[in-house]
Formats: sequence, structure tokens, C-alpha cells
Amino acid sequence: MSGVYGEGLLKGLGITIRHFFGKAITEQYPERRPKLAPRFHGLLSLDPTKCTACGTCANFCPNGVIRIKSERDEQKRRHLTGYEVNLLYCLFCGLCVEACPEGALRFTPHFELATYRRAGAIYDLYALSREAAGERRAAGG
Ligand code: SF4
Ligand code: SF4
Repeated sequence: MSGVYGEGLLKGLGITIRHFFGKAITEQYPERRPKLAPRFHGLLSLDPTKCTACGTCANFCPNGVIRIKSERDEQKRRHLTGYEVNLLYCLFCGLCVEACPEGALRFTPHFELATYRRAGAIYDLYALSREAAGERRAAGG
């Protein structure tokens, strides 16, 4: 216990005054974009040209967030047709990224994922990657 009466109050006031005159560290988001760490875990991204639809990522996911859809061709080879992640339950832990033997998964810096509907939190990464590839082709990239 403090020996001097009001010592705690003075200490508290000292901290308040120091912060009041100190450098402000408030992020002015969304007017200014935050500077993210290089290995920030935002929305997952899938490279369908590397993905073999093996399901390892889904098996490693502790929350059962990943749903893979695939079809087999005449040679019994599996082809990816859908790759859903339900962000309502995603921990952004990165176990899926680490587990992928093909390096087909990575995190993007995209973090503005709030939605009013539960369905809005389910992303088909396969469809998104195909859309992005189509846009790149249309732009001549
Ligand atoms: S980041 Fe973690 S919780 Fe999210 S899909 Fe990957 S393994 Fe599952
Ligand atoms: S992302 Fe990687 S681990 Fe997941 S199904 Fe595709 S190849 Fe397999």
C-alpha cells in the first residue's frame, strides 16, 4: 500500500499530463491507410494453377473453415472447382498456408472484411482468383 496520502492520484495525473503533451499515436483510419506489417494476415488468396485439390489445408484447419469442391477427370485426376473459406470462424492462424504442399495459399493485406450478412463472410477463393485473372487479361496484363 502507498504510504503518502494522494501519491497514487499524483502518479495518475503525471501519466495523463505526459500523454496529453506527448506525440499522438492515434491511427486516422479510414482517412489514412494503416501501415501493415509485411506478414499481416488478411484475407486468404489461392493460386488455382498450383492447387491440386488435395485437401491438406482443410484437414489442418482447426475450425473446419475450408470447403473444397473438386471433380475427377477420365484419368482420375482431381481438379479444383470451388474453394470456400468461412471467415466467421477463421482464426487467421495460418496453419492452412503452412500445410499446403504446393504453396498455393497466402495471406493478402486485405482486412476490410466486415459484412452485415453471414453469407457475406463466405468467400470462394477459386472464383475470386478466376475473376482477378480475367480482369488482368482484360487489362492486357
Ligand atoms: S487461417 Fe487457420 S482458421 Fe483460417 S482457414 Fe486457415 S487454418 Fe483455418
Ligand atoms: S490449397 Fe494447397 S493444401 Fe489446399 S487443396 Fe490446394 S494444394 Fe492442397
